[in-house]
Amino acid sequence: MKTNFNVPVKVNRSTKPDGTIVSVKGTDLGGKGIVIIAGPCAVENREQLFATARSVCKSGARILRGGAFKPRSSPYNFQGLGEEGLKLLKEISMETGQAVVTEVMDTRQIDLVSEYTDILQIGSRNMQNYPLLKEAGKSRKPVLLKRGMMATIEEFLLAAEYILDQGNYHVILCERGIRTFETSTRNTLDLSAVPMLKQLSHLPVIVDPSHGTGLRWMVPSMAKAAIAAGADGLIMEVHYDPEKALCDGQQSLSPDEFGILMADLRKIASAIGREIL
Ligand code: PEP
Ligand code: MN
Repeated sequence: MKTNFNVPVKVNRSTKPDGTIVSVKGTDLGGKGIVIIAGPCAVENREQLFATARSVCKSGARILRGGAFKPRSSPYNFQGLGEEGLKLLKEISMETGQAVVTEVMDTRQIDLVSEYTDILQIGSRNMQNYPLLKEAGKSRKPVLLKRGMMATIEEFLLAAEYILDQGNYHVILCERGIRTFETSTRNTLDLSAVPMLKQLSHLPVIVDPSHGTGLRWMVPSMAKAAIAAGADGLIMEVHYDPEKALCDGQQSLSPDEFGILMADLRKIASAIGREIL
């Protein structure tokens, strides 16, 4: 494959031509099956999380998302419940049997977050937080690494390389939109990143159409397009009452909308010879 940069060695597909499978609680990411991750942007309270988790689980989301430590643009916005949020995630995941992914914003949070969850999320704003990447690399937890909103594919792969270089090969890459001159959407979801990353790297690639568009009505179209483009999974925001969400309600699907989308995604998956796990 000819690229205008050198693909770092450890993430390079040539090191593992068959691809990496990241297994979480019996669910394989990066294999033939497609994995759907869903849940609220932030854990707000028990009722909100539990109702949302139960509904997305029923519709087929194998992994539950939900932020306990939230990177908010304004210091005056809801910052997340912290450890209380982690406890709620753990409790509901024991009931639903789902694995949990939640964000870790700081090296000092890694041990705490690891105690309660199955996958450490490194958010877009922290993709180039090198101390955090290194510490996540020392951990043995799978890492969901989101593309920086201003990061090139090369920078994204180099960030992942930091984690692998510390010995943690359980890394999932997530395209979540980049900043461009376009303002009609929150970000520009770069779906061309999917075949590119799959070509250059052996790591599983998933897409976040929620942050990628910032618009609830647009999420289903881009979710379907992501699967058609070869993504190994999706991470989507769902809220049991989006109008009342403390964070990112405008891009969150209702449980009903999510259920309808799941049915469509199954059809797309089968059309390309895959299946939704
Ligand atoms: C999130 O998924 O909770 C999040 C904050 O996304 P991003 O880091 O992509 O902005
Ligand atoms: Mn969000």
